[in-house]
Amino acid sequence: MTDVEKRQDRSPVPQGWTYAPAPESTDVVRLQDRYELYVGGEWLTAKEHFTTISPRDEAPLAEVAQASEADVHQAVASARDAFQTWSKLPGSERAKYMFRIARILAERSREFAVLESLNGGKPIKESRDVDLPLAAAHFFYYAGWADKLEYAFPNRTPKPLGVAGQIIPWNFPLLMLAWKIAPALAAGNTVVLKPAETTPLTALLFCDVLRQAELPPGVVNIVTGDGSTGAALVDADVDKIAFTGSTEVGKAIQRRLAGTGKKLTLELGGKAANIVFDDCAIDQAVEGIVNGIYFNQGHVCCAGSRLLVQESIYEPVIEKLKQRMATLRVGDPLDKNTDVGAINSREQLNRIEELVAAGTAEGAEIYQPPCKLPEQGYWFAPTVFTNVAQSYRIAQEEIFGPVLSVLTFRTPDEAVEKANNTPYGLSAGVWTEKGSRILWMAQHLRAGVVWANTFNRFDPTSPFGGYKESGFGREGGLHGMEPYLDFA
Ligand code: NDP
Repeated sequence: MTDVEKRQDRSPVPQGWTYAPAPESTDVVRLQDRYELYVGGEWLTAKEHFTTISPRDEAPLAEVAQASEADVHQAVASARDAFQTWSKLPGSERAKYMFRIARILAERSREFAVLESLNGGKPIKESRDVDLPLAAAHFFYYAGWADKLEYAFPNRTPKPLGVAGQIIPWNFPLLMLAWKIAPALAAGNTVVLKPAETTPLTALLFCDVLRQAELPPGVVNIVTGDGSTGAALVDADVDKIAFTGSTEVGKAIQRRLAGTGKKLTLELGGKAANIVFDDCAIDQAVEGIVNGIYFNQGHVCCAGSRLLVQESIYEPVIEKLKQRMATLRVGDPLDKNTDVGAINSREQLNRIEELVAAGTAEGAEIYQPPCKLPEQGYWFAPTVFTNVAQSYRIAQEEIFGPVLSVLTFRTPDEAVEKANNTPYGLSAGVWTEKGSRILWMAQHLRAGVVWANTFNRFDPTSPFGGYKESGFGREGGLHGMEPYLDFA
């Protein structure tokens, strides 16, 4: 037997492999004790504040303002004032500001990456290599459209809508901010954005980028707070709401806005199928499965949380997956070696634990690799469930954590039927060497995004969004401009 053959059954990294700690320094981040609301280019003092913590050790980081209804109205009024001038600037002028923002984000990316990991719990290598480059890329990309709208939408006279209210979640705080703000500004709108309660700090640091870029006051306003601040923004005098978050809150917003004439886009939850055919490159697929569900602790709306494996390769795939899981390094988000960081909040950890307990109670078989979780903070080991029936809650509900449910199939038709058997329709993955099968699957899968032989790839030029209970409207690409424009 050759050495290569002998090595085949082993995990890529030997068990018990130890890594020296490689902590990223937090010196680059200067936190204020207290943050207020960013309204009209100034800091507006709020009456109430709450403490934001780091999920890695529950240490308090700063006090953050809780915006009241009156504060939200003031922010919207300020955005409305700014709209008068911003919307009349030539597109090439708006683009200059946006290119500046993109460049400053790129220059300050280390500072932002460290703060993102500190406040949100995601591994520094993800903040550094995914969130920050993509956030800057969104501003670069949409800056390019600002002076080309008439060419992008020929014979349709695109006009900005006015004030956009934007509500974002905690899983990609700065990246979601960029997804929302960049197309809105390029189209000539002004913005009031509410970050998630648990991750407000990078949005607040972004206000300093706006100051550096000399963006005119009121064009972007940031109001922090809890769900009541989001609800106040929905009801305020805005022309459009763009929301990313849970399906439950998305539905409530849709009900609230029905009949008001305000435009709405919703990017909601998902329960994506990652479908592995027996002709795929198995090792590559296993990497894709791991990236699909354990990236960002599974706090990803398009996470590949349901693995559909063709029956003939079920055993080798599960064996290789378990071996690979044993090599994942779970721990301090600020350690450069970490693969799986902290769960974002106590609330989210409770939700994951509840659904995992339901999976075991319903009869699924659980596997977690041996790993030592830190004592302080919020943690959950990478988990895979086998023996899962389609009716189990872990196969139907969004867990939004590092938990994978495995199902099997025999034929492409069966794979499609199972993949489409959820209320969601955000994304899917297909692993096969046959191009024709990829195209056939993409046609039949009811999902807004279908990846082939890869997973969780994002690009500002590519539209992203869902079907069914995953929402409506697209973000990214030229499609992402349309919801911010009026074509009357
Ligand atoms: P939410 O939908 O509650 O939060 C998303 C954003 O909406 C946050 O900024 C939130 O504020 C705000 N919000 C909350 N209530 C209202 C309201 N009534 N009106 C307007 N805005 C509101 O998600 P959660 O953080 O509670 O997470 C719960 C579950 O949702 C997760 O377990 C996951 O399954 C799913 N989820 C999906 C996401 C996705 O990307 N599709 C992202 C986040 C969560 P605040 O943070 O202050 O509550």
